[in-house]
Amino acid sequence: MKTNGPYWPQFLPNLQGSDVAYALSYSEQDKKSALNMSNQYDPCQPVDAADIDAWHAETDVLVVGFGGAGACAALEAHYAGADVTILEVASGSGGTTALAGGMMYLGGGTPLQQACGFEDSVEDMEAYVTLASGPGGDRAKIHGYCHNSIDHYNWLVEQGVVFNPEFYGEKHTNTPQYQSLAFTGNEKGYLEAQAARPTPRGHKAKAFWEEGGSVLMATLTAAIDNTPVSVHYDSRVLALVCSAGAVVGVLCRQEGEIRALRARSGVVLCCGGFIMNEEMVSLYAPRLAQGMAIGSPNDTGSGILMGMGMGGAAINMDEGFISVVWYPSGEFCKGVFINQQGQRFFNEDCYHARGAHHCLNQTQSKVYMVVDSAIYTEPPLYADVSVVEVGETFEELEHDAGFAQGTLTHTMETYNRFAAQGEDPLFHKNPEFLQVLDKPPYALLDFSLDSGIYYPAFTFGGLDTTVDGEVLRASGKSIPGLYAAGRTTAGLPRSAEGYASGMSIGDVTYFGRRAGGAAAARGRTTPTSD
Ligand SMILES: Cc1cc2nc3c(=O)[nH]c(=O)nc-3n(C[C@H](O)[C@H](O)[C@H](O)COP(=O)(O)OP(=O)(O)OC[C@H]3O[C@@H](n4cnc5c(N)ncnc54)[C@H](O)[C@@H]3O)c2cc1C
Repeated sequence: MKTNGPYWPQFLPNLQGSDVAYALSYSEQDKKSALNMSNQYDPCQPVDAADIDAWHAETDVLVVGFGGAGACAALEAHYAGADVTILEVASGSGGTTALAGGMMYLGGGTPLQQACGFEDSVEDMEAYVTLASGPGGDRAKIHGYCHNSIDHYNWLVEQGVVFNPEFYGEKHTNTPQYQSLAFTGNEKGYLEAQAARPTPRGHKAKAFWEEGGSVLMATLTAAIDNTPVSVHYDSRVLALVCSAGAVVGVLCRQEGEIRALRARSGVVLCCGGFIMNEEMVSLYAPRLAQGMAIGSPNDTGSGILMGMGMGGAAINMDEGFISVVWYPSGEFCKGVFINQQGQRFFNEDCYHARGAHHCLNQTQSKVYMVVDSAIYTEPPLYADVSVVEVGETFEELEHDAGFAQGTLTHTMETYNRFAAQGEDPLFHKNPEFLQVLDKPPYALLDFSLDSGIYYPAFTFGGLDTTVDGEVLRASGKSIPGLYAAGRTTAGLPRSAEGYASGMSIGDVTYFGRRAGGAAAARGRTTPTSD
């Protein structure tokens, strides 16, 4: 199996859609190997401590997984005075966090925002994140996250993370050079801008293009290396060990042996999400199964299953990031998306996961972009789109592509009429991207799901936890000794429709810290028993 230490293909900017997918996905063999956790142990079946003959080792806080959440949980547990051990199945740190673009959604007036000349307030940030999280948003987590965002920024800087005080203002999926600040969601959207003053909150460690995640993980790994935290790679946690309803350790496969490791204070599950577990995805998140799974091969949901085995509730399991990208190049934001009925259905300048959300909701997920020759000068960078039809007039395009008479033409006449006045009364596209499409020939680009273009996906759902990472049962009661963070839990990101880049890594690092700190604190208040 490939290991997943800090890694990002340097040549990514030169790749096109399907190549990007290839670079981010793993072979079937990798997936099988990652899924083959053990023939002997079911992650959903905790082992009774009474059946453990001898503990191989013990520690205060045992962190499972050395990605973004695990690194921060371990650091905070260590700073709280705990003896900490990390068990990581791969041969290096990183996880999906190291594969990521590395954006973190921070705000409220961080030093980076200030250095780039932007004003923000905690209230604006909270209003935005609340709107973005939708009706299922966890108000307590949102509140804690936003009110501690500046503190979290400073903590990251203390760990060695460097933010470059440069703002990137174009429409893109990440900052293309070393800029650390950007708009990364729907902050300028119609409803959002009414709820909160639009402010860039995407914070990326100083890194080239998509290397933000690997630079972040290299920095956090170096911070761990400077502590006595004990790190064990090639160590797959197979099951939790429990005693009288409390979690007291784990069973782990190490060096070809099954070993029991005792956790005096708590176990923190930071095993990532479940996008690589086809069975779980088809059961819990079938919509994501339509896209291409991206992430580390160890996103098998093992942490979620172990938590569920202890009675933990798994929530928001059907939601995740799924996206279709028609930018960079603001030119394509000037295009007009239509469905099979020839009707527009969203503002084309929105964040690409919201775009995918709306595209997938159209009849048979058939969606097309109408462009004219002024904006279609070269193919979109990521999407391997094909040109369905070309016409000298909208009538010709409509007829030749098989749309019902008067549908596409009516949509384009309405769009152009208002665009000429700098308005979009239907979907409130920003005037920056409103342009009359009147330069024939016109073309219809295929962004339909079944056209085979790149719809990358990863999961948002996971264990229900308190702000301090205590894993909750459906009853709302916590499970003693069991903590979780990162995409093993349901955190800030709740839907593709509301997602902004950075809501995952911001969440996993911040709530990783809270879980690690809480697990360490439990050790100070709970007498241990043998
Ligand atoms: C291409 C890509 C780009 C992205 N870009 C961004 C972005 O810019 N901003 C953003 O916010 N989000 C982004 N995301 C999402 C984000 O990267 C993830 O949601 C986040 O990093 C998950 O962090 P984590 O700590 O929960 O998991 P991970 O970082 O994956 O860490 C989990 C670790 O647990 C280990 N593990 C799993 N099971 C076991 C086990 N049983 N025993 C021991 N170890 C185990 C894994 O090997 C892994 O190292 C992106 C995702 C992808 C795929």
